[in-house]
Order: sequence, then structure tokens, then C-alpha cells
Amino acid sequence: MNSELELLVANRTKELEEANKLLRVRSDTDCLTKLSNRRFYERRLDENISTAKRNETCLALLMIDIDSFKAYNDHYGHDNGDLTLVHVAESIASSLPRGTDLVSRFGGEEFVVLLPSTDAAGALVIAEKIRINIEALDIKHAQSNTGVVTVSIGVEAIKADKLNKIDLFKHSDIALYSAKDNGKNSSCLYSGQHSQQR
Ligand code: GH3
Ligand code: MG
Ligand code: MG
Repeated sequence: MNSELELLVANRTKELEEANKLLRVRSDTDCLTKLSNRRFYERRLDENISTAKRNETCLALLMIDIDSFKAYNDHYGHDNGDLTLVHVAESIASSLPRGTDLVSRFGGEEFVVLLPSTDAAGALVIAEKIRINIEALDIKHAQSNTGVVTVSIGVEAIKADKLNKIDLFKHSDIALYSAKDNGKNSSCLYSGQHSQQR
């Protein structure tokens, strides 16, 4: 009787653990693109900052925004917009060279990429690779200058001694707006007031 009860409890505990694990994965995942979500990104950002400070390395952040996506939705419909978001997400994920690099859907048509142990020059190379790979998907966009779906990317990398999440985010956001101002479909590195375009 006792051993039957023990077995029942053990089985129930295992089921509960599995359910909890599934719940944790689901709460960290964006349901459309299957990328990690903003919640997971925020947690990883804190971890990456701690590691960078401990190892005295740089941490880079890319902010990626699909160009003229409202017009894309208006012209091709929301379902096609959703499909394009999935293709863009897959392309970003497959452009990342290291297992420690992380792409997350930040919200809407915006993605963030964390690149540990990566300086500004290295981050700009990866940003350009992402941008070129998305352009090469050749997803038609009649409302854009290039005729295809493109992204703009803001880039910032900060060394351990000056690293903090507020500046990292603010600077890559400023760089993203410079990339948009420069005509979209470009990557920009934050450099004080004026970001450098690529
Ligand atoms: P910009 O080039 O300056 O970034 O212009 P934009 O049109 O991309 O930017 P805006 O912020 O005006 O529009 C973003 C659009 O992204 C509006 C919204 O309909 C679309 N969007 C956001 N989330 C989703 C989504 O989950 N699915 C689809 N299909 N569209 C989305
Ligand atoms: Mg946007
Ligand atoms: Mg946009």
C-alpha cells in the first residue's frame, strides 16, 4: 500500500516538474516567431553585464527594426506581415556566429541581439551580415525604396568599466534612429551625438 502511494506521489511530482518546465519555456518564448521574448532578454542582459564586468570584456547590443512595416501590412495584409516577421526572425537567428549570441523579439517589428565579448567593430560586422541576409531573402515590398523587405540596425558596444544597461539601450536606440534618418536599410554605430552609418 505504502509503496503504491510512493509511486503515485513520485509520478505526480515528475508530471508537475515537466509542466513547470514547459510553463517556464512558454513564458520566455514569443509565440509568433518562437524566438525568446523581451522577458528572457532582460534576464540575459543582466547576466551578460555581470559576466562582462567579471571578465573585463565588451558587451554589444543591436536594435533591429523592420523598415516601413506599417506600409507592408497595409499593402499585403496582416497575415503576410506575420509570415514576414517569422522569416526575418529566422534569418537573424541564423546570422549569429556564436552559441552565446542571443536574438529576442523585443516587440512588434523590433528585435534585439546581445553579443557578449564583442567590440564595436565586431558588432558592426554582424549587424551588416544580418542586414544583407535579410535583404537577400528578397521578400517583395512594393512600398519600400528597395522593393524588398529591409531592416535598419542600431549598434552599440560598451567596455566593462563603463557598461550599464541604460546607456547600452539608449545608445543603440539613438543609433537606430540615425540608421532610419540615413535612408533606412543601413547599420549605424553609436558615436556620441552623431552615429556612423554603414
Ligand atoms: P519605420 O521604417 O520608421 O520603422 O516605419 P514602420 O512602418 O516600420 O514603423 P511603425 O512603428 O509606424 O509601424 C510598425 C508596424 O508594425 C505597425 C504594426 O502594424 C506592425 N506590427 C507590429 N507587430 C506586428 C505583428 O505582430 N504582426 C504584424 N503583421 N504586424 C505587426
Ligand atoms: Mg518600430
Ligand atoms: Mg519599423
